Amino acid sequence: MTVATDIEPEGKGSSEVKMKEERRWTLSDFDIGKPLGRGKFGNVYLAREKKSKHIVALKVLFKSQLKQSQVEHQLRREVEIQSHLRHANILRLYGYFYDQTRVYLILEYAAKGELYKELQRCKYFPEKRAATFIASLAQALIYCHGKHVIHRDIKPENLLVGAQGELKIADFGWSVHTFDRRRTMCGTLDYLPPEMVESKEHDASVDIWSLGVLCYEFLYGVPPFEAKEHSDTYRRIVRVDLKFPSKPVVSAAAKDLISQLLVKDSSQRLPLHKLLEHPWIVQNADPSGIYRT
Ligand code: AMP
Repeated sequence: MTVATDIEPEGKGSSEVKMKEERRWTLSDFDIGKPLGRGKFGNVYLAREKKSKHIVALKVLFKSQLKQSQVEHQLRREVEIQSHLRHANILRLYGYFYDQTRVYLILEYAAKGELYKELQRCKYFPEKRAATFIASLAQALIYCHGKHVIHRDIKPENLLVGAQGELKIADFGWSVHTFDRRRTMCGTLDYLPPEMVESKEHDASVDIWSLGVLCYEFLYGVPPFEAKEHSDTYRRIVRVDLKFPSKPVVSAAAKDLISQLLVKDSSQRLPLHKLLEHPWIVQNADPSGIYRT
């Protein structure tokens, strides 16, 4: 598999080294810094590409663990898809390389880390922040769907935050090209639409559903169909058992948007371009994608 491996500093100042080459990377091209986090298959480190001085996140995956969990195919697909996407709200995958025991992914560095942790810290987000995030995600998903890529696993754990507070979709492990749409069950149950928990055919509108789940979780601090037992979550999703608690207080406009996204009939979900025109988004989302307190 050949993957375009380019690292291009964002600013275009003349002093900055611009690199854009088809090339093979090795570990010796990078200075390795502090660990940023630990994942299921390895660790992520802050790193600096020596020539360009570009700061990246280097994800180190152990081949033995990838093999054991039979996720090599998934990783290959993730790399193939993510490396071709270019959007401010999608984490760049600049390239990859490997040695005998490990696979290395060269990723854009998201300075403010995991959204999941931020949501845990805040419990829930103010409406303006939630709307800004949802609008950014909708734009990123419009871009993906335009390229026939469906993400299928939009949830707080897969979202990172950049230095300016902008959202970055980070994990394309479950994404697919729509032309190889399959009836596979994947991802955490909480974020899956009825057609996926029932293993029916699905299309790009699965991401619209997940955006509804996420919008609810941003505003209430818990996903809408949460239940103690897996089987109860399943039942609540299939019935679209959507309830809005009285606390925290959430505007009628936000509830209206969520209700238009969490619709069982996937063809009736609010299209993403219409989401961007919804009054709650228009009145609350910061067009810059950056929430200012
Ligand atoms: P993962 O293996 O993708 O779950 O990554 C493990 C942890 O490393 C995440 O939970 C983040 O805290 C951190 N991390 C992963 N990728 C990045 C990145 N591109 N920028 C900053 N932190 C990251």
